[in-house]
Amino acid sequence: MTEENKIKTIKDIDLDFEKFYGIIKPEFDKKTIRITYEYAKKAHRLQNRATGEPYISHPLAVATMVHSLGLDTISILAALLHDVVEDTEITSGEIKEKFGEEVGLIVDGLTKIDGFAKNKSDQKIEALRKVLLASAKDIRILVIKLCDRLHNMRTLGVMRPDKKERIAKETMLIYAPIAQKIGLYSIKWELEDLSFKYINPDMYQFVKEKVHMTRSDREEVLNKAVDEIKKVLDINKFSYKTVLGRPKNFYSIYKKIKDNAKTFEDIYDLYAIRITVGSISDCYTLLGHIHEKFQAFPDRLKDYIANPKLNGYQSIHTTIFSKAINCPVEIQIRTEDMHKLAEFGVAAHWRYKSLKEDKKFEKKIAWLREVMLWEKEHKDNDEFMKLLRFDFFEDEMFLFTPKNDVIVLPENATVLDFAYSVHTEIGERALKGKVNGAMCTLDKSLKSGDIVEIITNQNGKPSEKWLKFVVTNKARIKIRNTLHLKKSGPANITVDDELFSTLKLKIKSLSDFKKSRKAGCCEFKYNEEIVGVIGGKGKDKEIVVHSVECDNAKFTINEKIGLKWKEMKTKEIVFELVLTDKIGLLMDILNLFASRNVSINSINSKVLRNGDTSMTLTLEEGNHVEVIEKKLREFSFVRSLKIKKKLFNF
Ligand code: MN
Repeated sequence: MTEENKIKTIKDIDLDFEKFYGIIKPEFDKKTIRITYEYAKKAHRLQNRATGEPYISHPLAVATMVHSLGLDTISILAALLHDVVEDTEITSGEIKEKFGEEVGLIVDGLTKIDGFAKNKSDQKIEALRKVLLASAKDIRILVIKLCDRLHNMRTLGVMRPDKKERIAKETMLIYAPIAQKIGLYSIKWELEDLSFKYINPDMYQFVKEKVHMTRSDREEVLNKAVDEIKKVLDINKFSYKTVLGRPKNFYSIYKKIKDNAKTFEDIYDLYAIRITVGSISDCYTLLGHIHEKFQAFPDRLKDYIANPKLNGYQSIHTTIFSKAINCPVEIQIRTEDMHKLAEFGVAAHWRYKSLKEDKKFEKKIAWLREVMLWEKEHKDNDEFMKLLRFDFFEDEMFLFTPKNDVIVLPENATVLDFAYSVHTEIGERALKGKVNGAMCTLDKSLKSGDIVEIITNQNGKPSEKWLKFVVTNKARIKIRNTLHLKKSGPANITVDDELFSTLKLKIKSLSDFKKSRKAGCCEFKYNEEIVGVIGGKGKDKEIVVHSVECDNAKFTINEKIGLKWKEMKTKEIVFELVLTDKIGLLMDILNLFASRNVSINSINSKVLRNGDTSMTLTLEEGNHVEVIEKKLREFSFVRSLKIKKKLFNF
């Protein structure tokens, strides 16, 4: 039995069909959809699903999903018929005769995928290959296959445990990445969460409980943050289309914690709020309003409008601190067109645009074609698998141990990152590496596909130098911890109340840190720039305040936090800029400020009639204004720059 429903009878399912039929628009071939439903029902009449329900409930559910993604009549028919050839006496020829060549070819594609997936040898690779090859001919096959898999995952609970785990692993390894690659994010998230639940039930339960017990609890929390944002928009009389909260999926939260050794408290995007607006320039104006009213995390700002992801995804992401829920929230800003693409991926094109209109579409599925071409020339499964996996994960490398286990690392990772990724002990005792058979030092950067062996020394230990070239957080944290433990015992800290009465933190409240102190190496003058270096862990977490100019603070590998003196000057500096259009200019500008630890009080921008952008930036006086001005003038896209002082009334 499915978790939420009782077993449906054929009458219940017929009612479901009528409901589905009712929402289909007249431009679809509704008559044929009804005939096809009756045909498939009859064909499957002797079969039940593992849930005990008449089999037709499954093709109907898949057809409903396919329709909601915006696919066409042909796809709905193919979804209704997708298991007929495989599970009944009816042949592919008969389908083609009755429903046409196009429907027949899609059903053939889907039948083949299933045929290979059932074959025990080389199961995964073959299934993957068939999915891709079939769908490169007609991408509707791929979308229907993903809906088919999603419905099977939703009803997986009734299967034998070993079967559940096998199917869940296959889903995680093959289908979720495909959903991501073509931009079907909501399907990807659900596939991941469902797989996670069966692959690692204990951890799934743990994350679920940690992340605010129930979904409704999370939604309530989110709604508070949504209201807070809406208020800011209303005050600015900013018109928007929608403001919607979305709790992040469990699996991505788990992955963040696992990959970066983070705690729940360190994850910035447990919550996300999506705002859709009317135009691209509205996206940037809105970003200005948000940054003006909320404290933002500068390194979390991503401009995917100027720099879209390979699958075409566009949005601005920024993370702010919501006082209403006392927690960081990721804000995604996009236009409605961008939203449609993000939600429905390539399927959006069937709904909103004809294919001929959109040249970008060709680019988006070009990767599939490349894979096809490649496949013609090479027949080796392992190579094929490697190639596919590299292509799926743009920023990640796939490396291999001598035993052919796969290790996934970010681009630019080194031999030492690899060693720590295999095992902490191997990392700590690492001496040299062997990459594709050739000896090398630990700082060598790796490339996707490298086979890496680590040569260890029983008495080896981490060195301070290692911190200069490791890339992954895991390695950095492990090295730092080992070094720290060896060097100093428990730190002896005194809290300097006098100093902190005149300090104000930009991002977090001081109470997040139990201990804080002045660095002995620095002299402090009121209003001179200072920076906090975060040290210690858990209860011993502390902030050490340094002058920005102090070498100890400059070269620390610890996390730094911007600090301000409590009494602000009553003046603001206003930069008025005119900018020529250039991809990524917002990022360049914001990076300039971030790199100097200068916080921007507000940004406003609008597109001028001639296509240039006018932008106003304000910051507190005394924040390296001369340096910032010089650097801004060096940017080739800055047409003009005026500086004004503004009196600021508290
Ligand atoms: Mn099926």
